[in-house]
Amino acid sequence: MIDMGLYKYITNRQLQNGAGKVTGSIAVAVRNDSATADVRYTCPECSNKQQAAQEWKRPFSMKCSKCGLLMRLPRLKDQAKKQTKADRR
Ligand SMILES: [Zn+2]
Repeated sequence: MIDMGLYKYITNRQLQNGAGKVTGSIAVAVRNDSATADVRYTCPECSNKQQAAQEWKRPFSMKCSKCGLLMRLPRLKDQAKKQTKADRR
């Protein structure tokens, strides 16, 4: 279990492909003392799995390094089911 106190933002979201199926995911974590987001994603279009670091800003988005798909972090209200606990705002 990750120590939430270390992070000012941490989330784990599912991503849909163009057909509306959930085939990917993105996890973002930003440390308290950092302006850089640690990102792990599975691209919903090409299944590319990648770890990357990127400047943290909102709205946050990341490009798949393989197919170039722009993956946006869905807004919380669009995907508010059981993931609210993982989000600290
Ligand atoms: Zn891709």
